[in-house]
Amino acid sequence: MGVMLKLYNTRTRRVEEFRPLHPPHVRIYVCGLTPSAEPHIGHFRTYLFFDVLRRYLEHLGYDVRYVQNVTDIDDRSIARAMDTGEHWYDIVRGFYAMFKDAWRKLGLLPLDAHNEPYATRFIPQIQIMISELIGRDLAYVARDGIYYRVSKFAGYGALSNRNLEELQAGARIEIDEFKEDPLDFALWKFAKPGEPNWPFEGYGAGRPGWHIECSAMARELLDQEGCGFDIHGGGADLIFPHHENEIAQSEPLMRSPPMSNFWVHGGLLLHESKKMSKSLGNFEPVGGLLERHDPQAIRLLFLQTGYSKVMNFTEGSITAAAAGLQRLKATYRSLALAGAPSTPQSSGALVARIEQVMGEDMNTAAAIAELHRGAAPEEFGQFIYALQLLGLSPSQQWMEHAQLELPDDLAQKLVRELGPTVALNGAEPQEAVAHVIALRTKARAQKDWTESDRLRDALARAGVALEDSKDGTTWTVRP
Ligand SMILES: [Zn+2]
Repeated sequence: MGVMLKLYNTRTRRVEEFRPLHPPHVRIYVCGLTPSAEPHIGHFRTYLFFDVLRRYLEHLGYDVRYVQNVTDIDDRSIARAMDTGEHWYDIVRGFYAMFKDAWRKLGLLPLDAHNEPYATRFIPQIQIMISELIGRDLAYVARDGIYYRVSKFAGYGALSNRNLEELQAGARIEIDEFKEDPLDFALWKFAKPGEPNWPFEGYGAGRPGWHIECSAMARELLDQEGCGFDIHGGGADLIFPHHENEIAQSEPLMRSPPMSNFWVHGGLLLHESKKMSKSLGNFEPVGGLLERHDPQAIRLLFLQTGYSKVMNFTEGSITAAAAGLQRLKATYRSLALAGAPSTPQSSGALVARIEQVMGEDMNTAAAIAELHRGAAPEEFGQFIYALQLLGLSPSQQWMEHAQLELPDDLAQKLVRELGPTVALNGAEPQEAVAHVIALRTKARAQKDWTESDRLRDALARAGVALEDSKDGTTWTVRP
């Protein structure tokens, strides 16, 4: 805990030193998924950042409680159910399973059940909060639901740095809404026929609005004392209105605001230079992406860009990140083959350099650049530890990969072994191996065992071992 961490705080619009309210505990709430459509990479940019923040805070010695909710009741999943005839909860369950599958593949730290609250399991807490807001005149009952009265909360607009007049100018009341003011937002929506609903004594059956669920679950799980927690996170697109509304709901009921000491937001993600949106139909479901690319290359790509910057996600950028990953693997292998001890080491000069850049608002890009600079053999344990801090997991697979990598000068070596009769000059290593194997197959077909053995032995001396099976001949590289 002696190492300093500075973070950009949206609430104060400054980079500030992070200090937990109650060390060694750090309490974080990050807005989770609304599983009413396929999860896309924009979601994962945010969650990958908070995954690394979690790892880094743990590295600094903090005991982190990380809560991330599931908005398992929402207008869109209900609408989708009405369109498709499926049960609305099957839709939610299906999309959330896809999300968790991608979560595992991308190597995010698991969420434990106590810290993964589903909105529909917190209906009593949500209703208590709504009743308290009504009691404070901060909410009112209308024909179609219960609304928050924005004009009663003086701090409204502070997080997103907007003033009320400006907001009022852009707001409208939809024809099917019965609120007093265009800025007011729904806390509870009375059920229309056929919609899922929960009873709410004294008011009427319905379902919670999106904003109130986060306020209620954050209070229940992280801040029962009403004195705030450490970090509230999410994508930058949630600052207004979602996070502004969470503050409006939570802070008037607290003993000692702010709701969260730090508000930390991940930057917007563009896809092939366009804003990703459902209406444009240009978002890439994360499932397809994970089929085409190494999840660790995707992780590296996100971490190479500052977390709060606007990022343009392109097919070409993943290819470049995959090449970067190969370079890290090559460094790892050369250190491993040099016989350096591979026990992860959490301190030393290399880790100190990583801490220095991570301490400056989580500069993961600079941390990766530091790893690309390589490490001395005695720093191998620190190199592994630093990779793990970024959520990259060097494993046996990184070594197995080595056996597919041929030495660059393989063709020259084989020419020396076999003489100029075998035409290999200037061949790429892969081509050279394939050519020698083809010659050997031909020799075997002609029962020329001497030539067949000569070719096999030459490859063996160049570090390539052959294996014959009924499906043909395969090769591996021996270090
Ligand atoms: Zn939220």
